[in-house]
Amino acid sequence: MAKSVNPVDIVPLGGLGEFGKNMMTYRMDDSMVVVDTGIMFPGTEHAGVDFILPDTSYVDEYRKALQGIVITHAHEDHIGALPYVAKRLGVPVYGTKLTIAMIRKRLDEHELLDDVELVEVTPGESFSIGAFGVELVNVTHSLADAVAVVLETPFGKILHTGDFKVDNAPPIGPPIDLKRLASLGDEGIVCMLSDSTNAEVSGRTGAESSVAAAFDELVRDAPGRVLLSCFTSSTHRIQVAIDVAAKLGRKVALLGRSMVTNVQTAIDVGYLRVPAGVLCTAEDLENVPRAKQLVITAGSQGEQLSALAQIANDTHRYVKLEPGDRVILSSRVIPGNERAVNRVVNRLFRLGADVVQQRDAHVHVSGHGSAEDLEMVLRLVKPKSFIPIHGEWRQLFHHAKLARASGVDPDSVVLAENGDVVRVTADGADGDGSGRIQVVDHFDLEQVLLDGSGLGLVEDCVVRDRRRLAATGVVVPMVSLSPGGRLQVSDILSRGFIENEDAEALLSEAHDVMLAAVEKLSSDDAENEKAIEDLLESTLKRFFRKRGIRRPVILPVVVTSEEEP
Ligand SMILES: [Zn+2]
Ligand SMILES: [Zn+2]
Repeated sequence: MAKSVNPVDIVPLGGLGEFGKNMMTYRMDDSMVVVDTGIMFPGTEHAGVDFILPDTSYVDEYRKALQGIVITHAHEDHIGALPYVAKRLGVPVYGTKLTIAMIRKRLDEHELLDDVELVEVTPGESFSIGAFGVELVNVTHSLADAVAVVLETPFGKILHTGDFKVDNAPPIGPPIDLKRLASLGDEGIVCMLSDSTNAEVSGRTGAESSVAAAFDELVRDAPGRVLLSCFTSSTHRIQVAIDVAAKLGRKVALLGRSMVTNVQTAIDVGYLRVPAGVLCTAEDLENVPRAKQLVITAGSQGEQLSALAQIANDTHRYVKLEPGDRVILSSRVIPGNERAVNRVVNRLFRLGADVVQQRDAHVHVSGHGSAEDLEMVLRLVKPKSFIPIHGEWRQLFHHAKLARASGVDPDSVVLAENGDVVRVTADGADGDGSGRIQVVDHFDLEQVLLDGSGLGLVEDCVVRDRRRLAATGVVVPMVSLSPGGRLQVSDILSRGFIENEDAEALLSEAHDVMLAAVEKLSSDDAENEKAIEDLLESTLKRFFRKRGIRRPVILPVVVTSEEEP
């Protein structure tokens, strides 16, 4: 018997074919739910851009249908865009206790606390957002309180895993709820969307607690002060480090504003446990013997202004390194940050510190499941259809392969990209209502580039100009225009352009070429500023091209003098 149930449209707005700015939309009839609203950190090609946000024009199109935003966990690539979109979208934001606490702190920093409704949800409870029934399921990750999202539709459940690893005894909070995932599998999952970050990595990902042995050994052994740097949101890692310090009788100081606020937030909601008397401030360190200190600091990615970079530059107010001190870098280096991290590491060594990285000891473990973990979850959930998410194409591709290998019908594994409209329909070709998915449409999305210093959106053309300026410099031809329409080439300035004798000769030649061009202007055009600017630009462009010189940015300036001098 044919059912007449409307389809669900799944449209990823970010996080597919890229790392970061995760944002997924689910729409059914007049209800739309957004899962995650993350940012991405730009590469060097985005000169001066601080963040990249997902393009939300698709959500704007269905604005009336939008009923809520569900956040899987409090990493930047999942919550970072909230301060920029939550107020405008104007719907409640749902998440678990720690996630909501971290979001609250973030919105507060942007003075948006009164503008966004935050709803704390306990995993396992059912609630609804518009026409969708919703349930959060505990998963494990590099920070506590991460969840998968189950969306219930009239013809089956959709499972969105968020970031996860399979950890049966995380340092904080419950283990991944494999039991619930298995029972969901038995009830029937019509479509699963799952984290692909480590799909290319064979085997299983180690437990968060597995770094404890190496921490213990490295801290116990250290004759002096120990510094440990990790992501400020890595609550599990920080808990393990604090436990080791407490056991070995070391005091713990936290460095870096986000390290202090994130740890305080995790303590406030009762997730991070710190024995009394263990924490001290950076100022207090001078009263603690060096061999009794563990400093947990931000800056594991080599960030220029971070506490770790200041320590490496020997400019930190409270923490100076000495030979015999030890620095543990407990994180992976995010692609693109290798040079910055390398610079910091070299400077730390130069100060006499012993720097221990992932390659030297088991001081870091990934927060994402590897191939065997992903396959195990696929086999538990037995989804009718599958969309790999969170990853570049190579990871998505490998995850799709794992899904087919674990029994998902190859026709129901869809490699989608951002902007694709993936439609899940109940009445499949075989008429059993088991769910079919296919890409039925595509929205062109743009990257939204943001300057975090308060300038707001950055246009694509601005980034292009900045790149050209950096590569070639700028040449500024200046012309003065007097009331009688008399033109004079007054000067030609340059910045970032080559500065040597040859360049001087070249610019003086350019001066003559400009003069000749300006003299040929018709008397009408000679009073038209725009015409003069265009002429200067095209003349100089041609001049540099003929000389085979890399084209600098040309910025003509026409100065109108009011009176004859
Ligand atoms: Zn994450
Ligand atoms: Zn993520």
